Amino acid sequence: MYVNLEEKYGVSRLATMVTSDINRPNNVFGGVIFTREDRDDINSLRDLKNKSFMAVDKDSLGGFQMAWREMNALGINPYRDFSRLEFGGIHDRVVMAVLDGKVDAGTVRTDILERMDAAGTIDIDDLKFINLRHKDKFLSLHSTRLYPEWPFSKLSHTSPELARQVAVALLQIPPSNSPLSSDKYTNWSIPLDYHEVRALFKELALPPYASLEKLTLTEVLKRYWYLVLIGIISLLLLISLISVVVRHNRRLKRSQQRLERQHELINQSVADGIYGVDLEGNCTFVNKAMENMTGWKAEDLIGKNQHIILHHTHEDGTPHPREECPVYQSAVDSRARFISDDIFWKKDGSYINVEYSCTPFRDLKGNIQGSVVVFRDITERKKTQKRNQEHQLQLAHVGRLSMLGEMASGIAHELNQPLTAISTNARACARMLESDNNNIEQCADVLDKISSQAERAANVIQYIRHFSHKELPHQKPAKISLMVDTVLDLLEKEIQSKKINLELQLDKDHDWVFAQDIQIEQVILNLVRNAIDSLECVPKGKRNLSIRSTPTNNNKIEIRVSDTGLGLKKVIRDQLFEPFMTTKDQGMGLGLSISQGIIEAHGGQIKVESPLGQQTGVSFYFSLPPAKERA
Ligand code: ADP
Repeated sequence: MYVNLEEKYGVSRLATMVTSDINRPNNVFGGVIFTREDRDDINSLRDLKNKSFMAVDKDSLGGFQMAWREMNALGINPYRDFSRLEFGGIHDRVVMAVLDGKVDAGTVRTDILERMDAAGTIDIDDLKFINLRHKDKFLSLHSTRLYPEWPFSKLSHTSPELARQVAVALLQIPPSNSPLSSDKYTNWSIPLDYHEVRALFKELALPPYASLEKLTLTEVLKRYWYLVLIGIISLLLLISLISVVVRHNRRLKRSQQRLERQHELINQSVADGIYGVDLEGNCTFVNKAMENMTGWKAEDLIGKNQHIILHHTHEDGTPHPREECPVYQSAVDSRARFISDDIFWKKDGSYINVEYSCTPFRDLKGNIQGSVVVFRDITERKKTQKRNQEHQLQLAHVGRLSMLGEMASGIAHELNQPLTAISTNARACARMLESDNNNIEQCADVLDKISSQAERAANVIQYIRHFSHKELPHQKPAKISLMVDTVLDLLEKEIQSKKINLELQLDKDHDWVFAQDIQIEQVILNLVRNAIDSLECVPKGKRNLSIRSTPTNNNKIEIRVSDTGLGLKKVIRDQLFEPFMTTKDQGMGLGLSISQGIIEAHGGQIKVESPLGQQTGVSFYFSLPPAKERA
């Protein structure tokens, strides 16, 4: 108890008790190990192995622990090596159990046996003592080392002065002055050293040194086999788990590398330029194609504002404000956009025409992180488009000239009439002036006729100039009725001479369209020309031609030229708009192809309605956007 209190709470001893042992007073004591006198098989401590043994109490110093220390020094563990270990609770019971043969051997503190013998309770000669030791001045039988008796202690906070006074008082108690008048107690000695008790506790790993127990591996295994087993099983589980994790990890790493390689490959091998933009509009990544197309390197772009680098200025040199940047807008309003015509400035100061899509991208929580831009260099395509347009213009010009050729006879006829009229009238006028009758008034009338015929001839020439002129496709508000009139002026005579019944249904309220008038006139002229050609092949009386204009549901104005001619020939049906496709001996097969090109340039398409197998004629129609402002 003292050793534990000293260790835990810092108590310190003032004096050690002197007990009145039967042989002589002593301030030390020990333990005695014994068996019955007649037990020839037990003569030393080693003989106690596998025997039954009784001690007083497992916490008793003299009644168990001192004996245990001696056995322990020989490698005997009472808990393990005895066939049975019992605790009697009191010393007498231990002695009696040994004498009665209930146990093979036992231990009690010193002086007990002598006292019982003196009291006549036992005959000490019936007992045999094991491992007896001898020590001068200690006369009691003892089998163990000797240890100091109970100390009188002070608490850590007891004042030194009080402690001193108590110590002096205790030491001054004379042996005869026993206050307890007990058999066991006589007086107090100066305090002894208790380190042997401490050494015992350490050796036996008892409190307060329980944790210092020296355990052999076999003891650990014996005592904690289930923990060891659980430990081993857990370890095995852990190892197998780790190996599974390692295997999975390796597999994941491999597939991650593969994905990264694929990603890199895709990124670097796609022909389209790809770059990422964060919410601030700064580049986050670029691919190889982008570097090649723009000349900008990844390090020039990453972390920099893409708008300032790539499309700060429009093609015409006007600034392109950042707020209008589609890439920026996509990141802001999280809507994907497709831009079909824009430019990206290259590092060398030139630019490329591009079409691109910008798609916002989100993180796993759905928050917008920025956008990805995929673009394509369309510079070549645009150049080709421009070339095609120019070519189309050329073609249209050629077409018009060829048509003029076709119309030459008509024009000659047209001019012939006024010229004949002019010459006839001029001659008549001359005759009038030559005659005596001063027919001035009549003469003036004839001159009027001459001048109007001359105007008509001038008009015809004007048309020819008009048609042979090469115009740029400049669209402006134009009147359908006017364009139809122009065409009919050219063809009126022919229509009349071929007995074609013409029906005009032009919507006066939807007369204005946004178009290039000369080109549309050319289209109408082509369609009407073809209709006349087709009507020629049906009997007179069945030759109907109609030109109509009507508003459509999708806010356009439709112009339709219909005839009741032969209808489309089967061979031409699928290639109607291909250049040089004709069924006519004198035809060039350019009219419809040129007309289609013109209408496509106006954002529309010429369509055809022609019931198969019946001679009910054909309808060609196309739509033009209405003009918002009128010319
Ligand atoms: P071309 O008149 O010189 O033959 P087009 O391109 O104007 O060239 O016409 C191509 C062909 O389409 C014609 O040869 C004819 O077979 C057919 N076609 C065009 N318009 C009509 C129509 N109104 N009726 C029947 N066939 C037509």
